[in-house]
Amino acid sequence: MALIVQKYGGTSVGSIDRMRNVAARVKRTRDEGNQVVAVVSAMSGITDGLIKMAREFSETPSEREMDVLLATGEQQSIALVSMALHEAGVEAVSVTGRQAGIFTTGSHTRGRIQDIDPEFMKRSLEEGNTLVVAGFQGITPEGMIHTLGRGGSDLTAIAISAALKADVCQILTDVDGVYTCDPRIVKNARKLPEISYDEMLEMASSGSKVMQSRSVEFAKKFGVVFEVRSSLNDNPGTLVLEEHPAMENVVIRGVSIERSQARVTITGIPDVPGMSGKILGALGEAEINLDMIVSNIAHDDRARHSFTMHSNDLGKAQAALKQVLAEISPDARIETEAGIAKLSAVGIGMRSHSGVAATMFKALGEAGINIGMISTSEIKIAVTVDEPRIEDAARAVHDAFNLDKEPVK
Ligand code: ASP
Ligand code: MG
Repeated sequence: MALIVQKYGGTSVGSIDRMRNVAARVKRTRDEGNQVVAVVSAMSGITDGLIKMAREFSETPSEREMDVLLATGEQQSIALVSMALHEAGVEAVSVTGRQAGIFTTGSHTRGRIQDIDPEFMKRSLEEGNTLVVAGFQGITPEGMIHTLGRGGSDLTAIAISAALKADVCQILTDVDGVYTCDPRIVKNARKLPEISYDEMLEMASSGSKVMQSRSVEFAKKFGVVFEVRSSLNDNPGTLVLEEHPAMENVVIRGVSIERSQARVTITGIPDVPGMSGKILGALGEAEINLDMIVSNIAHDDRARHSFTMHSNDLGKAQAALKQVLAEISPDARIETEAGIAKLSAVGIGMRSHSGVAATMFKALGEAGINIGMISTSEIKIAVTVDEPRIEDAARAVHDAFNLDKEPVK
C-alpha cells in the first residue's frame, strides 16, 4: 500500500462539479489500494475576494486578522471536498493546518514552516481515513493562525509529503505539466518528462510559474520528488527531481518569457567605491524588485548601470533614484525604456556544453530581433528584446535548440 499526497489547486476545486471530479479522482487512487492525503486550496477567486473585502476597511489591514480571514478559504474547501468524498462512499476527514501539526515561524501572512508533527494525520490514516488537508495554513507555537504566502498550498503538500515520507507526491493542476515553452506561444512546445529542481526554479523566476517557488526550494532541500500533472485527465505529467547525470545531455530544458519589463540606465556615475551600493540601496528601500543588473566598465571615470524591473515599478524607481542621483554627481543622468520583455533559456546542460549563448544570439539575429541587455547565470541565459517581438524570439530560440524534438539519450 502506497501513501500518495495529491495537491489540488484553486481551479481544480473551483466549483461543486470540480470538487466531485476531485472526489472521484481521490476515490480511484484509493480504490487502487493506496492511502491518500489530499491537500486543497481555496476555490479559485476566494482568496482574492477575501483580500478585496479586507481592503474595504483599510489599505493595510491587520496582518494577524488577514491570516484568520484568508485561512477560511481553504477551510471551506476541506469541508466541501470531504462531503463530496462522503457522497462517493469514501471515509474522509477534513484536517486544518493546526490538526495537521504544521508549525510555522515568521511574520503574519508570510509564515514559514518550521516543523510538522504528523501524529494526528498518521493515526487518522491508520484508522482507514482519507485525509483532506487545508493548504496554505499553519499555526505558530503560540497558537496563532498563520498563512504561508500566496500559492502556499503547494508548500503544504510538499512539506506534508516530507513529514509523512509519502511514496508519491502529485501536484494536480490545470496544466498537463511543465513544457519546453508556453504552448500558447510556441505551438510545438513539448511536455517535459522530467526537470531538475534548479531548472524549475529558474524557469519560475523567468516567468514560467507553475508552482510557488518556495515549495520547489523546500522539495529540493528535503529531496521530495513530485509530479506536476493535470487534475482533469490521466496524461502523465512532469517529474521534478534532483538532477542526475543523464540530464546534462540536454543543453536547454526550456525557454521562458516575461512581458511588461522596463529598463533604467544611469550614466555619469563617478568611478569611486560605494556608488552601486547607494543606487541599489535606494531602489531596495523603495521595495523595487530588480531583475537583470548590468554594469559597464567605467569610461572617462564615469560608469553606467542598467537594471530591469516590472514596468509597474518604473515610476517608483524614477522617484527613488532622483534624490540619490543628485547626491552622487551633477552629471548623473537617468534613461528609461518601457515596452521590453525578457527571454530566458534554461538548462543545467549549459554547464558542460559550450557555444550555447552563440547559438541563441545567432538565432535571434537571423530572426531580425535586436537584443537589448544580456545576463547569465550558471544555468540560464537571459536577454531583453522589444516586447512586440517576444513571441517570435521564443519561437526562434525554441527552434534553434530543437526543443520540439525528443532529445537523443
Ligand atoms: N488560496 C491561497 C492563494 O490563493 C493558497 C493557494 O491557493 O495555494 O494564494
Ligand atoms: Mg491558488
